[in-house]
Amino acid sequence: MSDLAPSLSTPLERLPGVGTSRAQRLRPLELVTVRDALVHFPRDYKDFSGAHAFADLLEGEHASLAGEVVDIRSRPTAGGRNMLTVLVQGEGGSLRAVWFNMPFMAKKFAVGMRLVLAGVPRRSGAAWEMMHPEVRFCVAGEESRGEWLAVYPLADGVRQSDVRLAVQAALDHAANIAPEAFPEEWLAAKQLLPIGEALREIHLPTSLERMEAARRRFIYQELFMLQLALRLHRSQQQDRRAAPVMTVDARIDGRIRARFPFEFTASQRAVSAEIVADLGKSEPMNRLLQGDVGSGKTAVAIYAMLAAAACGHQAAIMAPTELLARQHHATLGRLLAGSRLQIELLVGGQPAAKRRKALERIATGESQIVVGTQALVSGGTAFKSLGLVVIDEQHRFGVIQRAVLQKGESEPHTLVMTATPIPRTIAHAIYGDLDQSTLQGEPPGRQPVLTYRVAAAQIDSWWDHVRKKLREGRQAYVVVPSVEESARGLASVRSAYEELANGRLEAFRLGLVHGRLSSAEKQGVMEAFRKREIDALVCTSVIEVGIDVPNATLMTILDAESFGLSQLHQLRGRVARGPVQGICGAITESAEGAHPRVDAFVATTDGFALANEDLRLRGPGELVGTRQSGRLDLYLADLGKHPEVVAEARRDALDLFHRDPTLADATLSRLKKLVVDRWGETLGLGDVG
Ligand code: ADP
Ligand code: MG
Repeated sequence: MSDLAPSLSTPLERLPGVGTSRAQRLRPLELVTVRDALVHFPRDYKDFSGAHAFADLLEGEHASLAGEVVDIRSRPTAGGRNMLTVLVQGEGGSLRAVWFNMPFMAKKFAVGMRLVLAGVPRRSGAAWEMMHPEVRFCVAGEESRGEWLAVYPLADGVRQSDVRLAVQAALDHAANIAPEAFPEEWLAAKQLLPIGEALREIHLPTSLERMEAARRRFIYQELFMLQLALRLHRSQQQDRRAAPVMTVDARIDGRIRARFPFEFTASQRAVSAEIVADLGKSEPMNRLLQGDVGSGKTAVAIYAMLAAAACGHQAAIMAPTELLARQHHATLGRLLAGSRLQIELLVGGQPAAKRRKALERIATGESQIVVGTQALVSGGTAFKSLGLVVIDEQHRFGVIQRAVLQKGESEPHTLVMTATPIPRTIAHAIYGDLDQSTLQGEPPGRQPVLTYRVAAAQIDSWWDHVRKKLREGRQAYVVVPSVEESARGLASVRSAYEELANGRLEAFRLGLVHGRLSSAEKQGVMEAFRKREIDALVCTSVIEVGIDVPNATLMTILDAESFGLSQLHQLRGRVARGPVQGICGAITESAEGAHPRVDAFVATTDGFALANEDLRLRGPGELVGTRQSGRLDLYLADLGKHPEVVAEARRDALDLFHRDPTLADATLSRLKKLVVDRWGETLGLGDVG
């Protein structure tokens, strides 16, 4: 035991068992204090129950076995590496655990020791083997304790064992003093685990049920606090200035629609009419626009922006990436050719002088339309008269962005767009105070993307097909999975490019785009692709969101198994942008029926159906999200699996607010403090109560 007084802000390096060098290694994860470690929630759990019998083992399937060490060997291999073999005798069989180049591991074992191994077994002759299994050492009779081992989100160079040790030390140090947000009766009534217990169970579960209960508590708490914070925020905003009343009459409507090279669909007209009705009121519009990829949301957003400008106000659109901001800027430029409207682009890395001039024109009202990335549009840009803000492709929590934005002086109308369909219950909980519009169907003549599973046997004919289409003047994407920004990911996209350039696509002009390029470089390549100076674009998922090049109608997704389902669908959306049939080949090693994500992707092009399937397929692992450095994400990011908890938390938060709008009740003081600590700065809640 240490003599350190327990505190959540104790630096991890001061805890016994952590130490300076381990603490240093944890820096990339931003784990500095005890508090950081306690809320660094696992992303998955490994079965460590030791419950498997030898008779149950299946090659390649994770298993956990209890047994006794009967032999230990450490020896150099022919290749100059060290190989440690520990033979473990269990009930009904034995297994060889093998480690390479970890000679120090040998010291941890002794013949006669009881332990539990967890890992993926494989056959080696008549025997079973596990490479680099996880080990839990047991004192006699202890085999059945601590059945589930937490697996944490990591960053470059950080080891699982570093995180586990730090979390364990943090729990020992301060789990007992973690502040409880909820009054005791509340915990009992809602059947929520008390905070200390919940922290222990989420990190060191004693059973699957208790771990679930702990997760439920944190999801409930997280949403409850968010909803309460949003509600408090709203009540503080109520005496704000009204939004500008913008009357869009038939003449303006006709003039705007004439600018588009196509007729709006019935659904686009219906949604624009809803927006026009909102803009005509002094109560600020708060509308969420949902629609599948390619359904024409951007067109509706541009319509709304032009409507605001026609009424003498300014409109801004925030895009999630610079690539997309530039694309919107170009689209608007084309639509507004010959008009008197001025468009500004605000993105990172612009020359200071240029940027200053743009800001000036925005402040004086000389420019009416502003396109930018989120930070730049929201960060202190002064508008003469901002009438409308559009938040594009905000996958999650646009609601928070919106609240942040409204901290400014003016009270613009707001339109939030999302291409990731959200099940109703969730949408209601997260965007509860937003009105919703949904774009149904697609622009006319659009055909669903033909999606093929391309297994090894079909690869040659697939590329034949791609080459044929390229010769006909079509363009293609080749999407390579890569851990964005990592050196290895970069190597993989580069080598795919080299391979194609010197092989299957030798006869064509190839481009390469990935996250490591500067934005000017990215922009240059995209521009060349748009101008058809490039036939095929080898890329990472940087093109996932929003990119619109209608002549590109072919997509090859390499190693399709490594993408998420929504991501695959977003990617495919890139080749569903015009009247020409889009075709997508998912190169996969798995056979039909063997990979549920790829199976679902190939089986349907309905984004809503896929979103539901996505939620169904996700295991516990993906439910507990990492803490993003963006700071706006929730600790437990994915709420889809627990719609009832989401709904309950929202209901309870609103109930509480109505009972006690300033949280004056003394038993709520800790809750109040926690809400302000968590969201106060983001939402400007400094003066609650
Ligand atoms: P989203 O933002 O929903 O993914 P976009 O607004 O970018 O979709 O539209 C996708 C493509 O369809 C774009 O190339 C756009 O120009 C085109 N488009 C949008 N609406 C129509 C329409 N009513 N008729 C024909 N093409 C349309
Ligand atoms: Mg879009």
